[in-house]
Amino acid sequence: MTDFFYRCVDCGKEHSNEQLHYLCSNCGANWQPGTSLTGVLEVIFDYAKIATQCNLQQIDWSVFSAINSKYYPNYPVGNTPFAKAINLEIDGNRYHNVWLKCDHLNPSGSLKDRASFFIVAQANVLQEEKIVVASTGNAASALAAIAAAAGKQAKIFVPRSAPAAKLAQIKVHGAELILVDGTYDDAFKLSIEETEKHGGLNRNTAYNPLTIEGKKSVGFEIFQQNNCQVPDVILIPVGDGVILSGVYKAFFDLLQAGITEKMPRLIAVQAEGSAVIHNYLTTGKLTSKKATTIADSIAVAAPSNAHLAIKAIKATNGLSVVVSDEKILEMQKLLARQTGQFVEPSSAAVVAGLANLQQQQLINNNDQIVLLLTGHGLKDINSVMNNDENK
Ligand SMILES: *Cc1c(COP(=O)(O)O)cnc(C)c1O
Ligand SMILES: [Zn+2]
Repeated sequence: MTDFFYRCVDCGKEHSNEQLHYLCSNCGANWQPGTSLTGVLEVIFDYAKIATQCNLQQIDWSVFSAINSKYYPNYPVGNTPFAKAINLEIDGNRYHNVWLKCDHLNPSGSLKDRASFFIVAQANVLQEEKIVVASTGNAASALAAIAAAAGKQAKIFVPRSAPAAKLAQIKVHGAELILVDGTYDDAFKLSIEETEKHGGLNRNTAYNPLTIEGKKSVGFEIFQQNNCQVPDVILIPVGDGVILSGVYKAFFDLLQAGITEKMPRLIAVQAEGSAVIHNYLTTGKLTSKKATTIADSIAVAAPSNAHLAIKAIKATNGLSVVVSDEKILEMQKLLARQTGQFVEPSSAAVVAGLANLQQQQLINNNDQIVLLLTGHGLKDINSVMNNDENK
């Protein structure tokens, strides 16, 4: 662990780490539920100090943690495989330098384990027994599992329409499940009311700034597993924009500490029917819009972390693409047949995103490209069973 403070993404105001913070004390006060968060906080370390403690030859990863590892729950998150996709061929194009980060192979079946792990650690620091979250399903499954392992109580708000397997995970781990007759955005609002009125630690993505810190471990692993080289491009499925911000934060930390010299280009992949961040980036206007896509994990009307995600995409010379549900389902099958990896639709979206970039001639064939696979296919088998093409 290294000293840090929180800095507001919107106004730059600094907040000390000595107490629990969610949003910026200035900008967060104006936030209206149902819109993207304002005043999301970033963790800023003492990078000059870190630079004296490590270099590329010898990295002490614990210096990049906002929580002392003695508080970590005893739960095996991360260290997921990173492998080259040797046979990938999409729409007649063969790919020679595409790599898969298989984060769908986390214990609860999604990358969300990383954030839930870190928030349970935060609950240990605060000696808080109850953790509350709103989720499309995966953040909740992950929290239910890790809270169970750590002996904590989880209270979970999920849309009634969430895939059955995700609801089964929440139930089997013994979390308190509130099924919301509405969208993820409605669940988000209810969960914040819950912690404001009845207490508990709120794990909502981006609202609790340590969710971004938890997710960044995937960026560190990509770097380590890639022989301490920064890949050229990383494609990331984007709903709230917190995974993307976490990947950004990992490479930002490494750059600030003088360990690396470049950032990977971050490509946000969104579903056509849930493309608020893409629209924000391309038009400059942030407007929430009802989400309709088969990729439930990236179906978000008002992405909580829109501002930071846009900043991260721009700062890395990245871009955003949108993909249709039809292409997502086609690529889910293609990935399963060419690489043996069965991922949920949100993750198949990155394969569709790759095809889209290739078609627009926006990538260089020699670039090293990483596809971030975020959720397991078994979490949503209906997307496969209902797909006419598979019958
Ligand atoms: C949550 C999630 C995403 C999107 O992450 P955001 O931080 O909301 O952008 C993508 N894929 C899977 C499987 C997820 O669970
Ligand atoms: Zn602020």
